[in-house]
Amino acid sequence: MTSTLSVDDEIQLITAGTPGASGSTCTPELAEGPWVFDLQAPSYGPGASMADPIPAETPRQGQLPEEYKSASKVELDARIRRAKETLGDRVVVLGHFYQRDEVVQYADFVGDSFQLANAALTVPEAEAIVFCGVHFMAETADILARPSQAVILPNLAAGCSMADMADIDSVEEAWAQLGEIYGTEADADGRVPIIPVTYMNSSAALKGFCGRNGGIVCTSSNAATVLEWAFERGQRVLFFPDQHLGRNTAKAMGVPLERMPMWNPRKPLGGSSAAELLDAQVILWHGFCSVHKRFSVAQIEKARASHPGVQVIVHPECPMPVVDAADASGSTDFIVKAIQAAPAGSTFAIGTEINLVQRLANEYPQHTIFCLDDVICPCSTMYRIHPGYLAWVLEEFVAGRVVNQITVGDDVAVPARVALERMLAARP
Ligand code: SF4
Repeated sequence: MTSTLSVDDEIQLITAGTPGASGSTCTPELAEGPWVFDLQAPSYGPGASMADPIPAETPRQGQLPEEYKSASKVELDARIRRAKETLGDRVVVLGHFYQRDEVVQYADFVGDSFQLANAALTVPEAEAIVFCGVHFMAETADILARPSQAVILPNLAAGCSMADMADIDSVEEAWAQLGEIYGTEADADGRVPIIPVTYMNSSAALKGFCGRNGGIVCTSSNAATVLEWAFERGQRVLFFPDQHLGRNTAKAMGVPLERMPMWNPRKPLGGSSAAELLDAQVILWHGFCSVHKRFSVAQIEKARASHPGVQVIVHPECPMPVVDAADASGSTDFIVKAIQAAPAGSTFAIGTEINLVQRLANEYPQHTIFCLDDVICPCSTMYRIHPGYLAWVLEEFVAGRVVNQITVGDDVAVPARVALERMLAARP
């Protein structure tokens, strides 16, 4: 995809078979309004995670009022701008890097999940934080927000398939099984048998679990620092939910692959023997991001053949062979900064979500920037947020009604905050 159109405009053109439109999408359903999927059987909707099994208890979004579904782009634009102007500092709109441009244009802050949760703290006068991201991000914002602030997720169906791959019951069960093997005795250096580490992309319940059990949260920017913190305090780590971030980070720190068994929650002892678990240094939860799993070594080879001198940068949620074959790997923030710092005329092939890649291509026309995957397949759940939902939640707030509020009870929020504070303190 090399046009200057937004990803969504490109999808509409391709799906309509418009003459001159080029490229392909992973499903024609991407061109439908996200409300088409709200009343169907729960699914992540069209996009990269559409084949992932969705947990039964996943939040559902009720039907959006007809006036928002049928409104034109121009009408929605006017309504969103009017509502934002009326509300002024009473509301702050946050837009994740992977969010569609049609929504990001209204964001007061754009960034990754943790940057956005922190950005909301810089607007203490805001009564409402409208998080145009996914469910776990809104939960984190609520954990960090002032008690009087309401965190709103415009479409409740905007979950995260990777976060959903590790639920609290399965993690508690794994912890109990591991406890039977490891016991509770610290070693001669005072290190406990195991430390839980959860990626930011996880439910609040798992962050709370880490807070209660001497564990910590990490982001894709600080995963190595956090693992060092954990190895100082524990003999081994249970890392969830993203196996790839865990494996890529630990491998770069020198942990041998054979000491990183996978924990499959559907198998006894996660699918490993007790001996393998006793020898383990990092136990990797069987989770992954379907957006980043799409990238392959073959795509990298193709990019190098067609663009000699190309710099390939991928996100560490990509599988290990892809990270190994790339020139660099890092968080969304790392990718943005690498492009900002490059001399004009550089060429980048990027392995992360298409909305961010296309936005970077438009913002840095002095470079050639393209997505490693030439099939347009956005994050299904980010894609569930549409300007229609944003207009709806903002106009409801203008009318004095808070809809789609995400709240995390103190029983979870208090220990989750402990795990997040450990992460901040572990910063190098
Ligand atoms: S890109 Fe992957 S990890 Fe991020 S919200 Fe989408 S499914 Fe979840």
